[in-house]
Amino acid sequence: MNRFKLPSNRQLQSTPQPQSSSPKKSSTKPPTNPRRPMRKKNKGAKLLFSTALLLAMGIAAWKVLAFYGFVADSPRSDQRIIALHPDVQIAADQLVQQAAERGIEVAITSDFRSSEEQDRLYRQGRSEKGNIVTQARGGQSYHNYGLAIDFALRDGSKVIWDMEKDGNQSGRSDWMEVVDLAKALGFDWGGDWSNFPDYPHLQMDFGYTLRQLQHGQFPPGSLVADSAP
Ligand SMILES: [Zn+2]
Repeated sequence: MNRFKLPSNRQLQSTPQPQSSSPKKSSTKPPTNPRRPMRKKNKGAKLLFSTALLLAMGIAAWKVLAFYGFVADSPRSDQRIIALHPDVQIAADQLVQQAAERGIEVAITSDFRSSEEQDRLYRQGRSEKGNIVTQARGGQSYHNYGLAIDFALRDGSKVIWDMEKDGNQSGRSDWMEVVDLAKALGFDWGGDWSNFPDYPHLQMDFGYTLRQLQHGQFPPGSLVADSAP
């Protein structure tokens, strides 16, 4: 029994030997052992850093995807615009008044349009009868966000789209006089668009792109309502 135990004791004694001998071996290169805890700290810091980096990249990627509409993002995206922006309404009223002071009768032929109305308008001249009047589907027009109006000229009881007429004999067409007034009030004119010029169209984007608007980011003061599910 003792003989059997003895070898096991020797084995137990012999096992720590390599550990105790290792400092002797490494004494020629002492930095290895003290460095080990340092490396562990570095590893921890590196892990923390890479986790934070991955998290930041993930958030950035999500934001990009949300911006392009692949994932839901904005908490306001369940809201929709229901009327012309008050600032645009005020400017439209001023435009009509200022034009009248110059002897030009302006008709505001369109202001806010819901996306459903826009879709109906888009079908005109395509799947339905009539002339094509818009290049924008529902949600693709500033009208759908209460940020655009269309104007025309009044001629008695008629509404006309005559860009040449100089009814007030000012030497500049009434239409372009209205455009000048509108621009001074802060409107952008659709007639300046190179792709599909839209001569009756006036809009104020307040620095908001269509993409932002489509994702529920609206200019301050916008008239919104919760979307019906
Ligand atoms: Zn328009």
